[in-house]
Amino acid sequence: MLGLSWQPQIAEEVLTVEQVDAGFVRMQELLGVKIDVLYCPHGGGPPVCWCRKPLPGLGVVFIQKYRLDPSSCIYVGADPQDPGFADGSVFSTVTRPISSQVRGDPTR
Ligand SMILES: [Zn+2]
Repeated sequence: MLGLSWQPQIAEEVLTVEQVDAGFVRMQELLGVKIDVLYCPHGGGPPVCWCRKPLPGLGVVFIQKYRLDPSSCIYVGADPQDPGFADGSVFSTVTRPISSQVRGDPTR
């Protein structure tokens, strides 16, 4: 399982890289699943980097690192930029997390 995230709090100096990394370690402990997570640490506004969704950079890193066939991968995302990211990375499917569907929040 692989994970992608945007952590603008690092650029905003609200969180450190160590705090963000510790959060992802804790997430994996709670889930009981090993997840290789990459994230964009850059701030808000128009994307000025290659690693913030919807730009495909982090997806490309995972595709190369694990020699993935993107058409065989399922991408799950709930944010507005996720469909564009999935299309740009040529992942085959975008699915909203079940929890957002259960809550009935039409924006997630
Ligand atoms: Zn970035």
